[in-house]
Amino acid sequence: MSQPTLSTSLSLADGSRRLSQSSPSLHTYLDKRVIKSQRETKRTRSQRARERLQTKEHLTRLAVGLYEVELADKLERCHSRLSVLTCGRHIARIIPNFTCEFRLCPDCSRRRSRKLQNKYLPAMSAFMLHRRVTPVHLVLTQTHRKENRKQSAKRIKDSFTKLQRRGFWKEHFKGGTWSLEFTKDRNGLHHTHLHIIGFRRRFFDIELLRGEWLAATGDSHVLNLKPIKDIAAGLQEVVKYVSKPLDIRRFGAEDLKEFLGLKNMRMFGTFGEFRDFCKDFEPSDNDGDEVTDLESLNRDLVEGCACPKCNEPLFDLRMSGKELPQFYEQVESSPPGEVRKSSH
Ligand SMILES: [Zn+2]
Ligand SMILES: [Zn+2]
Repeated sequence: MSQPTLSTSLSLADGSRRLSQSSPSLHTYLDKRVIKSQRETKRTRSQRARERLQTKEHLTRLAVGLYEVELADKLERCHSRLSVLTCGRHIARIIPNFTCEFRLCPDCSRRRSRKLQNKYLPAMSAFMLHRRVTPVHLVLTQTHRKENRKQSAKRIKDSFTKLQRRGFWKEHFKGGTWSLEFTKDRNGLHHTHLHIIGFRRRFFDIELLRGEWLAATGDSHVLNLKPIKDIAAGLQEVVKYVSKPLDIRRFGAEDLKEFLGLKNMRMFGTFGEFRDFCKDFEPSDNDGDEVTDLESLNRDLVEGCACPKCNEPLFDLRMSGKELPQFYEQVESSPPGEVRKSSH
């Protein structure tokens, strides 16, 4: 595979974050899904905004087809009018008129995953510092069976509980987070994966872990493990599966119906020692509290404030949600100071 691996590196010294290209090594986790999501991060903001709109339109059509009138109406209103605080070159803050909070809504799930990151990143940094553990991204898979999404999720979560009770696991891990990812193959079989950020106490032979997973599942030894160099990027990667549990654009009415039946299923959680740590954790000045998104840093900004990136004054641009991709495009392609209020 020639797909380059995009890894983000975090410089703890100055808190700045850079994107760096590194060539794939033999040990790089080359699972197709990860490659796909890496490609996604390379798309421009305008492309992503356009795709969010398309996803929403698709979901709305499905909801209408299922006579889920209230859901369709909420989706249509969500982010339909925006107040965009911009200097013309940067977008500092986007305030929507309404948020639907539907789990599959791409705008709302984006906000939810940002919240998860803001909540857990400081705790993770502190935990690593105090407990001297290193984070790894572990993907656990299971064999495919004819079962529905709920059964498939329960089966893999139960197996993971068994794994955690085993001596090997306790000896090598100090807890972490889990998130569920669902995919469906051409034959309609559910593939459910667990993405774990595990805090590793010491190295071990991966084959031993495969054996442990086989013992827990009874029939699957398939897993992937890669070290996480940058905990912010690692967390961002796993919460992505929470915000985007499946490829919604390939979603049919039946899928939506089934998903609506899952209302209360948890998609993300903490476990083990890290779980207990989070209960008592209060971030202090010494613990890194990197916020991964500019927009969430800018909650207090109003019109007239200086743009955090260039110090130019911010103005408030009103637009419909449908106009946002085009505005991103303008911002992306404009040299300093080009986009003005007249661009509306
Ligand atoms: Zn929404
Ligand atoms: Zn600016």
